[in-house]
Amino acid sequence: MKKLNKNFKNLGENYLFAEIEKRVNEYKKAFPNSDLISLGIGDVTQPLPSSIVDACKDAATEMGITSGFRGYGPYDGYGFLKNAIVDYYKSRGIEINADEVFVTDGAKNGIGNILDLFDEDNTVLIPDPVYPAYVDANVISGHKIVYADATKENGFLAMPPKHKADIIYICSPNNPTGATYTPEQLKKWVDYALDNDAVILYDAAYESYITSKNAARSIFEVTGARDCAIELCSFSKMAGFTGVRCGWTIIPMVSPLNRLWLRRQAIKFNGTSYIVQRMAERALRGGFDDVQKIIKIYQKNAKTVTDKFDALGIEYTGGKNAPYIWFDCGIDSWEFFDYLLKKARIVCTPGSGFGKNGKSWVRLTSFNTPERTAEAMRRFDAFWKDFVAVRDKLFTPSKQ
Ligand SMILES: *Cc1c(COP(=O)(O)O)cnc(C)c1O
Repeated sequence: MKKLNKNFKNLGENYLFAEIEKRVNEYKKAFPNSDLISLGIGDVTQPLPSSIVDACKDAATEMGITSGFRGYGPYDGYGFLKNAIVDYYKSRGIEINADEVFVTDGAKNGIGNILDLFDEDNTVLIPDPVYPAYVDANVISGHKIVYADATKENGFLAMPPKHKADIIYICSPNNPTGATYTPEQLKKWVDYALDNDAVILYDAAYESYITSKNAARSIFEVTGARDCAIELCSFSKMAGFTGVRCGWTIIPMVSPLNRLWLRRQAIKFNGTSYIVQRMAERALRGGFDDVQKIIKIYQKNAKTVTDKFDALGIEYTGGKNAPYIWFDCGIDSWEFFDYLLKKARIVCTPGSGFGKNGKSWVRLTSFNTPERTAEAMRRFDAFWKDFVAVRDKLFTPSKQ
């Protein structure tokens, strides 16, 4: 008789975004004409720039003529895109070989699929709070999971623990906290990984949002990283590809994972579409400036939020190197969600959805228009002053 993967029973409720949607829909039903502003979703909102749309059309046209038609492409991506990625790293002073680049249909798939290469008998270290896919993918794989606490005390940048781990996830700039490691801090993780014969899975999905000079944009800025790390990245937040789907994984040649991953991809993946790879190539070459303009819009929105928080004296992380602003609301984050929705008609993301250390913390995103973000902050100003005045009377304080 068929036996199902028993690990699925160990998954927690997948309830964060479903629960948000439920509460928002209930609110909309009760107040159909209310003007809600969402600063809650981790998805881009600006349309693709015309240069990237043109790349799509050009590639589709090619596919429609005999001389341009292409069937299955290479499992690890077309050379033109791999070379564009190599040059992208080179422009930041990092030497990567094209054989080390694997084009994927997004970073999320890579985050989960890479686990095919590891035995069940591995201990995985995951920061708390973080992007929920890491935990869930490892629950399905049956790995033992231990957590590295990211809290206000360490600036939401977890540092290596005393105990041993085999697989380490790092997300920097972090979703949800926006906190970003410096190369010196990452060096401590690289040393820990080398000492423990561990591998670092470095998620750099938000590297294109970095503005601080001292923030690391790649794990490969750190000496020794080539001997212990792989990097996952994505065109999703960089170029508005959340619905287009393209990403990449860098696995150094020295790692046995390089050959294993090529083998795995050849067996289970027939490549990203040619058209999408041409669009991705354009995002790094001819359309690069257009993509930067869109990132600037989100960065400006983040500054609209952080300027308001500075004026209100609210402590936060993120905003500077990430499209996320993370702050302590001092009460249960779901109660705050309801109150913010009711009083200011703003949708946020409760931090408890990202781990226990997010219990009283809240994520706002800059994925909206400048006008709506400014309007949200006008509302937030009045909201926060009122909230602080009534907080102790209406709510139970939440301590981390
Ligand atoms: C959005 C996001 C990704 C991107 O995933 P894709 O599958 O490339 O869209 C990866 N990691 C984190 C932390 C993210 O927030």
